[in-house]
Amino acid sequence: MTGTLIKGIGGFYTILGDDGLSYTCHARGRLRLSISPVAGDRVEFRPGSGDEDGSLSKILPRKNALTRPQVANLDVLFIVLSTSAPKPDLMLADKLLIECELKSVTPVIVLNKCDEGDEALIESIRAQYAPAGYGLIIASATERRGLDELKKSVGGNICCFAGQSAVGKSSLMNALLPELGLRTGGLSRKTDRGRHTTRASELFPAFGGFLVDSPGFSLLDIDEMEPHDLAGLYPEMRDKLSLCRFAECLHISEPDCAVKRQLEAGRLSMARYERYRELVMHLTELKKHKYD
Ligand code: GDP
Ligand code: ZN
Repeated sequence: MTGTLIKGIGGFYTILGDDGLSYTCHARGRLRLSISPVAGDRVEFRPGSGDEDGSLSKILPRKNALTRPQVANLDVLFIVLSTSAPKPDLMLADKLLIECELKSVTPVIVLNKCDEGDEALIESIRAQYAPAGYGLIIASATERRGLDELKKSVGGNICCFAGQSAVGKSSLMNALLPELGLRTGGLSRKTDRGRHTTRASELFPAFGGFLVDSPGFSLLDIDEMEPHDLAGLYPEMRDKLSLCRFAECLHISEPDCAVKRQLEAGRLSMARYERYRELVMHLTELKKHKYD
């Protein structure tokens, strides 16, 4: 049979079979020696009979594998921004979007706290991401707004929440799935445990898909990137890149640059482009000092 691994502790695995039933399995010896199964893995297994546990026999090829959260095959990342306090960190949002592009994860931008959010700020953020075509949901965990749209985005997918501290990730997750019981607004919260160590994640079946049990999404790969590869991870830039005069164009100060032309025509967000430029500078600087 095939199914999705939702939890693995001490060599025992909980699998949601494609028949909708839950199975407990252990890994067969040979598998234990190769890669470790993690939540999100699509697996082949043989169900047990009577008192006997089933056995997990094979991990199917992964679309992606993350270390924080420790899951495989993540489909959707909800990038939560606050529209009041704390002020939205759009550079962080851009970095999360880049990581999504690198890992084939579909991002959805969630503008939370709209109950006290500034209308002009909401519109500005919407305008900045519209040219990229990313999905955007306006939400309020406290007033339970946007929850239906969030549920619709979960449908069939493995989903995780990410964003700055105190933007309302845990509140939104609790609003969707009260049984998660995540602490909100506190100091000693569940999510902090996983900050510096990797902790096995668990998937909660919900709305035809799965929610990863705690928020967070690591930003591991951006500093390793070549400055030149960055623009290809901006959906609103990547179609035009072949039209720049120079193949190695960074779209900053080069002549005859297609990205600059898009910008001048108002088809790119100036604010998002400025942050792109800042990231290119940062990566260029890192590269310069790489062998210091
Ligand atoms: P997290 O750190 O991103 O998980 O944020 P929390 O879920 O812990 O929320 C941080 C604080 O913001 C808490 O005091 C929440 O009650 C509050 N909060 C969360 N969502 C909303 C919202 O939609 N509107 C308002 N006004 N406050 C919210
Ligand atoms: Zn260019």
